[in-house]
Amino acid sequence: MQTPTKLESIFGAVVARNPGEREFHQAVREVLDSVAPALDKHPEYAEAKIIERLCEPERQIIFRVPWEDDRGEVHINRGFRVEFNSALGPYKGGLRFHPSVYLGIVKFLGFEQVFKNALTGMPIGGGKGGSDFDPKGRSDREVMRFCQSFMTELYRHIGEYTDVPAGDAGVGGREIGYLFGQYKRITNRYESGVLTGKGLSYGGAQVRREATGYGAVFFADEMLRTIGDSFDGKRVVVSGSGNVAIYAIEKVHQLGGVVVACSDSSGYVVDDKGIDVDLLKDIKEVRRARIDTYAAARPHASFVPGRSVWEVPCQVAVPSATQNEISEVDADALIKGGCTIVVEGANMPTSPEAIRAFTAAGVRFAPGKAANAGGVAASALEMQQNASRDSWTFEYSEQRLQTIMSDIHARCYATAEEYGAPGNYVTGANIDGFRRVAEAILAQGLI
Ligand code: NDP
Repeated sequence: MQTPTKLESIFGAVVARNPGEREFHQAVREVLDSVAPALDKHPEYAEAKIIERLCEPERQIIFRVPWEDDRGEVHINRGFRVEFNSALGPYKGGLRFHPSVYLGIVKFLGFEQVFKNALTGMPIGGGKGGSDFDPKGRSDREVMRFCQSFMTELYRHIGEYTDVPAGDAGVGGREIGYLFGQYKRITNRYESGVLTGKGLSYGGAQVRREATGYGAVFFADEMLRTIGDSFDGKRVVVSGSGNVAIYAIEKVHQLGGVVVACSDSSGYVVDDKGIDVDLLKDIKEVRRARIDTYAAARPHASFVPGRSVWEVPCQVAVPSATQNEISEVDADALIKGGCTIVVEGANMPTSPEAIRAFTAAGVRFAPGKAANAGGVAASALEMQQNASRDSWTFEYSEQRLQTIMSDIHARCYATAEEYGAPGNYVTGANIDGFRRVAEAILAQGLI
């Protein structure tokens, strides 16, 4: 059978075996659309059914999470951990707490994570987890009770040599602290390497908090360098105002660009003088307030409720909020507004139609599995420091992160050229990540 026909039939089987999991299908489709040339070059991959094995998680865990709110009312949420692939190392990937979480979201994130982690060149497999719990508007004590209940089941599935969760949307330093405390209490083990994204007071690593946002901007900087350009004076839009967005904005400003807009799910703010990062951190990290609070505090800034931030003209876009946040209409608006570089800080924020529009318009596009790999790379550095009972300085950790992002960029760039698609970072990232996992699976036999 010819490779494209074979891939179609594999995709058909994935859709049939995982009904209703739209985001998972989308993530698989994107990889299958890229890897045909690698399969042609390596017939041994098809023979060993590497793709089929990659599309089936090694283990999927779904569990009940009962907890009590501050008024004594009982709530039942659903918890997930999908241990996707351990060919390269222990399962590694974040936990997401958001009402939209269901198995299809966790599987799309876990599938992406396998290739992303491979791209870092570090010894980490891929997994992802989370819950449909919504931390928004919940008190610290409610979040703590939820995290304790979540870990009361999760603890039996994880461990520093097995599966190492971290944060993702809705799971930051506060939640990781509660999860770690409960793990330690249940197991009677101070196993620092079981979770990453920990606080600096109990085994966390410098630059982990900043790493995904900083890393995406380092990647964008490398893209600009390849065309003899830089961030200096560039007008940038970053969507979201969470962990990834805040530190992407901070790094753009450090590199001389100006972020003029950011958002949350209620709307966006425009600040032509450049988003004030300290104010944004105070609003989002300390007060946990909505984005309109920003405009209220900066007289020249304005809040636009309920609309897409992509209508704000910019030269560089860094989507850092959620999956499929850039539609074809948004892509057209960005192109018309003069955007020439799109770098995904979030996972799969660009819809397939929007990616096609960017490609047709010659916009340089970096997929999340390459561009936002800085977060998981810094997590692997946290594991390394935990294992050696060491802690590195901020400067050294940031330098390591920058080198890792520059290496990922170089590999994506070179692989795209090798496969006759120069400048196509999607092809470069998918094939390079795929080859690394495929080789490890082949070497380990029928697993
Ligand atoms: P956070 O929860 O910290 O922030 C998410 C931000 O996106 C919030 O401002 C949220 O607003 C906003 N948002 C969510 N949905 C929408 C929407 N439909 N429209 C507009 N804004 C929206 O998450 P993170 O910053 O950690 O993660 C963001 C993305 O980056 C996710 O795709 C995640 O998977 C990815 N990522 C995260 C990593 C990490 O280390 N944290 C690592 C690699 C990828 P609101 O508060 O109103 O919901």
